[in-house]
Amino acid sequence: MEKQRKVVLITGASRGIGKAIATKFAQKNYDIVLNYNKSEKEALELTKKLKKEYNVSVLPLQADISDFDQIEKMVLLAIKNFKKIDVLVNNAGICYDCELKDRTVGQFVETFKTNVYGPFYLTKLIGDHMVENRFGKIINVSSNNSINQFYPTSIDYDASKCALNSLTKNFAIEYAPYVNVNAVAPGWIDTDMNKNFPKEFWEQEKDKILKKRIGTPEDVASLVFFLASDEADYINGEVIVIDGGMF
Ligand code: NAD
Repeated sequence: MEKQRKVVLITGASRGIGKAIATKFAQKNYDIVLNYNKSEKEALELTKKLKKEYNVSVLPLQADISDFDQIEKMVLLAIKNFKKIDVLVNNAGICYDCELKDRTVGQFVETFKTNVYGPFYLTKLIGDHMVENRFGKIINVSSNNSINQFYPTSIDYDASKCALNSLTKNFAIEYAPYVNVNAVAPGWIDTDMNKNFPKEFWEQEKDKILKKRIGTPEDVASLVFFLASDEADYINGEVIVIDGGMF
């Protein structure tokens, strides 16, 4: 009998870093639950491409991860379809950049709902399922804005990623020894999230990076895949910075 492929659920997978992560796991023969919120067209195009190029199963599921009911429905559908989830990548996230004086409480709340409450609830539901299966890898996409780079213009985002690091460690304790929970903390990565920064700001930031280049979504996807692999089985409860060297 053919062995069942491993299954990964990736949030916010229709573009940017999430898309690169989905592509990496498809290349490595994983079946994929491809979560998206608003970008249905992009999600369906990626689904088609990954199925065709890598011959794996891809299930696109719409859900706003800041909404608990939608998360529950998505997880139930994913498990009904694949019978299991081996890897969860909490990738989806939002960032409002603006002067601190213009920051609203509403933006702060929305950032936390997406960047913290969503990963909390997904990890709780899927982590319990993984413990039952006695196997699982959870990878949270944090940011170096939680470690060594702080910008008052993204004060809520920075705080949300600090909270995500804390969830990472607490869940690693809770789900030990069966489930590894780690986070990656990227620096500047070339995605739509950063498309509105002025060119001068971008150049200044690039100059701070030891590698003298902005990271690619594929740089992050490689690290996420490594953390999900058996090669990284002894790494647990860690937040690993991937920013080309920024201090
Ligand atoms: P992006 O804006 O291109 O992608 C974010 C994805 O998350 C999008 O597909 C979006 O639709 C999805 N998303 C947002 N809110 C959602 C919701 N409520 N429900 C479901 N999906 C939702 O940005 P990206 O750079 O690819 O960001 C991916 C992750 O990487 C984020 O968590 C971000 O904080 C983190 N990150 C990015 C950078 C960077 O420089 N780009 C640096 C550090 C960390």
